[in-house]
Amino acid sequence: MISDIKKAIDLLNTGDVIAFPTETVYGLGADASNEQAVQKIFTTKKRPGFNPLIVHLLDLSWADTIAYVPQEALPLVNNYWPGPLTIVVPLKEGAPIAPSVTAGLSTIGLRVPRHPLCRELLKGYGKPIAAPSANASNTLSCTTAAHVRRSLGQGIYVLEDPASCECGLESTIIDFSTSIPTLLRYGALSLEAIQDYIPSIKLSTTVEKIKSPGQLKHHYAPTLPIRLNAEYPLEKEAFLNFGAPHPKETLNLSREGNLEKAGSNLFKMLHVLDDPNQFYAIAIAPIPNSGIGKAINDRLIRAATPKSLEESS
Ligand code: AMP
Ligand code: MG
Repeated sequence: MISDIKKAIDLLNTGDVIAFPTETVYGLGADASNEQAVQKIFTTKKRPGFNPLIVHLLDLSWADTIAYVPQEALPLVNNYWPGPLTIVVPLKEGAPIAPSVTAGLSTIGLRVPRHPLCRELLKGYGKPIAAPSANASNTLSCTTAAHVRRSLGQGIYVLEDPASCECGLESTIIDFSTSIPTLLRYGALSLEAIQDYIPSIKLSTTVEKIKSPGQLKHHYAPTLPIRLNAEYPLEKEAFLNFGAPHPKETLNLSREGNLEKAGSNLFKMLHVLDDPNQFYAIAIAPIPNSGIGKAINDRLIRAATPKSLEESS
């Protein structure tokens, strides 16, 4: 494992991109200060240049060197970092951050991950790593190294964790650069948990300018069509069930009806069911819209939205 981390660090030092596990999903990382390296993230993922990247840090002290973290963010950050929480805050002028990381915005998205291998990587590298999810743009996020290779090809070095990602859903993103903190993306940290610290948090409803690709209507999509709130499968449909077993279920996100477990299984099971040789479509059972269920439903609605309804190409 130590040799794998060393290889990953060598690649980052030479301006390459690497994939690495986090507790949310796999990330596709590059040195956040190296513009050419960061450009490789965009070309590898075919990601539009207007979508900024999350910068991964070892701890809060790293954040202070590149951004202004407002006082009101501290109770939340102190409680949930390291963890699946991203904050969007004003970028410091002259900070060593490549311009395309922030897509030219004056704000930056920051996260301190808790996955042990990811933390070893950050500690060994000693500098911020910019990393969106390690998957081709708009397609399913990856929670195993095998998914990453299937999505991005064999050419990317993957720092591998034999277990799949613990949360399995992307981080929750909160914008602290606005007068009232705003939720930009539902994620692995529930809204209820955040409201304990920020009761006044606003839910973003409109997209004036894309602040978060999670706000694009079509996103996180498998190749097969998705049918939501299904009670049973139609002919040739895979059936992704939740809760009490059904005789026709192909897979079950959680037979006990546990939403955390369903979240960690979501992308993993969609990767398995997204098989045009076996199925015409994927039917998915209703998921309760509370706790992590909000993030699951958010991903499913976007996955089910036809590409033609996307706001921007
Ligand atoms: P991904 O991991 O592919 O979902 O992408 C990283 C997420 O962080 C995207 O949803 C970005 O838009 C979001 N993000 C990063 N920086 C910013 C920022 N300055 N403002 C708003 N969202 C951001
Ligand atoms: Mg993504």
